[in-house]
Amino acid sequence: MSVPHSGNLQNQAESPVPKNTRKSTRRSFLTKSLATTVIVGGGLYCAGSQTGLNERMQGGEFNSASGGLTSFFKDILLFLGTVTGWFSYMERKREKLYGHYIRIVFYHSTPAESVPNLRKHFAFFAKQYEPAKWDDLVGMISGERPWTKKKPGILISFDDGFSSNFEYARPLLKEFGLTGIFLVPPGLIDKHHTNQEILLAKTPEKNQVVMTWEQIKVLMSENHQIAAHTYSHHHFRIEDSPAVLHHEITECKKVLETRLAHSVTTFSFAFGSDDVYQATAYQEIRAAGYQYVLTTLSGVNQFGTNPFLLRRTGLVTDMSIARLRLNLLPFARYDPLGDNRAEYIAKRAKLK
Ligand SMILES: [Zn+2]
Repeated sequence: MSVPHSGNLQNQAESPVPKNTRKSTRRSFLTKSLATTVIVGGGLYCAGSQTGLNERMQGGEFNSASGGLTSFFKDILLFLGTVTGWFSYMERKREKLYGHYIRIVFYHSTPAESVPNLRKHFAFFAKQYEPAKWDDLVGMISGERPWTKKKPGILISFDDGFSSNFEYARPLLKEFGLTGIFLVPPGLIDKHHTNQEILLAKTPEKNQVVMTWEQIKVLMSENHQIAAHTYSHHHFRIEDSPAVLHHEITECKKVLETRLAHSVTTFSFAFGSDDVYQATAYQEIRAAGYQYVLTTLSGVNQFGTNPFLLRRTGLVTDMSIARLRLNLLPFARYDPLGDNRAEYIAKRAKLK
């Protein structure tokens, strides 16, 4: 389990609050964090180990198909978090103690029936966070452009390039002034729709088709960000040949850049399970000239976050606001699942 650095806490030394009060506030916050890390972390771990933490559960740790005791446990946590005001408490405190950050969340398809609830999600983001742009994110992690807004920043990403994202999520983004990141596997765009459905059947959303090149260009003209999502929504494996890696990573970039007449500097793995983060894939990603990699590691992005391990938190459109808050909650950079996975993945992908 992670213990907060003292460095950030020392930044508060010039605060006008009396020393003793500060100390006890800090202590009480840390005690609460520790206790809830154990409880929530345990719950997350149970949920994670049941589902394998793959893209099928990217709807969010709390929306997986696991039932029985785990589900009961999660509902209790939700209830307690809401009635005790703990959600709000943690949201207010974590940035104060751990510094500024920008969060990226991700959805998959956003069909018409999801719009009423998705509007609630976006309204929540617009209220609790400050809409961020892609440049804010990359400027912040490198330190070139610190995030100085009062609230943490938010970016909304959408995996797999579903046309429903263009049709239904795009107007909502506009309504709330939010910026989207759209993860596109270019190999799916020009395929016949039947092929798209076969390829996308690997993801939870079936019977959906992907956006057209024209629609993607419109998104770019509206300052949304486009990221490569492998050429054919490929699941990287250790046995992948150099030719496959080249096609899914380098060729993917070339096709996107040619068709969009714009540089594409961000890559994202398809299927978020740990085994896709192969060292050979990262070598190809570097060689191809990508500068950023979006992952499915939950947590938030701060100054110093590895640009090849950008954090994103998975959500689904029909999640209640209470569940959404619980998913976003924990501990800023001390996400019990995200941190452990980040360390493991950085090691296996030789990013250290
Ligand atoms: Zn995907």
